[in-house]
Parts: sequence; structure tokens; C-alpha cells
Amino acid sequence: TQELLRNSEKLSVAGQLAAGIAHEIRNPLTAIKGFHQLMRSGEAKKEYFDILASELNRIEMILTELLVLAKPQQSRFERKNIVSLLRQVAALLETQAIMTSIRILVQGKEDALYILCDENQIKQVFINIIKNAIEAMPDGGDVTVGVDRIGERVMIRVTDQGRGIPESQLARIGQPFYTTKENGTGLGLMVTNKIVENHNGAMRIESQVGVGTTFTIELPV
Ligand code: ADP
Ligand code: MG
Repeated sequence: TQELLRNSEKLSVAGQLAAGIAHEIRNPLTAIKGFHQLMRSGEAKKEYFDILASELNRIEMILTELLVLAKPQQSRFERKNIVSLLRQVAALLETQAIMTSIRILVQGKEDALYILCDENQIKQVFINIIKNAIEAMPDGGDVTVGVDRIGERVMIRVTDQGRGIPESQLARIGQPFYTTKENGTGLGLMVTNKIVENHNGAMRIESQVGVGTTFTIELPV
């Protein structure tokens, strides 16, 4: 019965997700159909093309993020240096950070810290978290990524000096499609959570409004 229960739980989570996806994709589709209709009837203003492009982009963004969830069967676990992996992610986001006067500082006390992981998935985790940190600091600031080893666990702390998350919103973070951003998908942290779970890790969030937010990811060495 316990396995049965677990299966039915899985089903309902999958069902919720499916309902969410359907809803999120139907909105841009409805807009696309509407503007397509207008354009067929001869009205082809330039802004219609812009709206079409942005709605199509939105669908693409949602599907790209969801694709990560569809891939865990193919995950390849290898021994990787987590500090150099984090440095690669920081380099990847450097251009986006500089545009809003943000520095990304990676501070590893030990340089030779290895974890067993799927490199692309773990990179995705920190891309998602650091991107959120950047987006939380429209006026610039520092994103500090600290790596520590505590016994058999590696702790990675990503701290920003951004707007913070009100206590009342904390519980909703990571729920599919929960976003406070105009162009957000609300899928980043759900995907992040799933990947961390796949790696037998854990994620914690601490935040203070107006001060900043710290995401702590704990992974087995
Ligand atoms: P998205 O970035 O598309 O909104 P996410 O799942 O990545 O989706 O994040 C969900 C929500 O969590 C964000 O919309 C934002 O409200 C909140 N959030 C996440 N990270 C931070 C952060 N570092 N600072 C403030 N709010 C954050
Ligand atoms: Mg995000």
C-alpha cells in the first residue's frame, strides 16, 4: 500500500504539472492565434510580428526548462571538481552580470573538492540560482558563492544583496510556475530542486527583505 500511495502521489504531482504546463502554454498560443487571424485579414502591423515573436519565445523558454526534467534517465554521474565547475558557471553569467554592475565571486577554501554528479545538471542548478540572484539586484551588488566541506557533505552557499523574499512567499518558491517576474517562467527552482534531489542533496533558502537571500545547496562528496 505504501508503494501504491507513493505512485498515486507521483501521479498527482505529474497531473498538477501537466495542468500547469497546459495553462502556461495555452496563453501564448491563444495570443498567437488571435494575431495570426488579424494578420490574415490583411492587418499586418510591425508590432504584431513583435508580439508573435515574444509569445513564441515564451513557449520556447517554458519547454527548454521542462526538458531538463525529461532527461534524468540519461544522467551521467562522474567525479567532478565542484569549485572549477562553479567558476565555469560564473564565467558563463559574467556578461549578464556586468550589464547590471554585478560581481560574481567564487570563494572556495579548498580547491580540490570533488562530487559525483551529472555535470550539465549541476551547472543548470547554479545557473538557475545565480541568474535569480542577478535578477534580484537591478541596481547591482555582489553575488558570493562560497564552497565548504563539512564531513561528507559539500555546502555551496549563494548569497546576493538583492530585494529578498518576504516570509509569506517563501513556501511558494519552487512550486511550478510560481513567479513574481514579468518575464519569469517560475520553473527554474522547481527544476533545480528536482536535480538536487536526484543527487541526494538538499536545498535551503534564507532571506531577509531588503538585505538579500542565501541559497544553500548541500551535496554528498
Ligand atoms: P523565475 O525566475 O522564472 O521567476 P524561479 O523558479 O527561478 O522562476 O524563481 C521563482 C521566484 O522565486 C522568483 O520569481 C522570485 O520571486 C523568487 N526568487 C528566487 N530567487 C530569488 C532571489 N535570489 N532573490 C529574490 N527572490 C528570488
Ligand atoms: Mg529563475
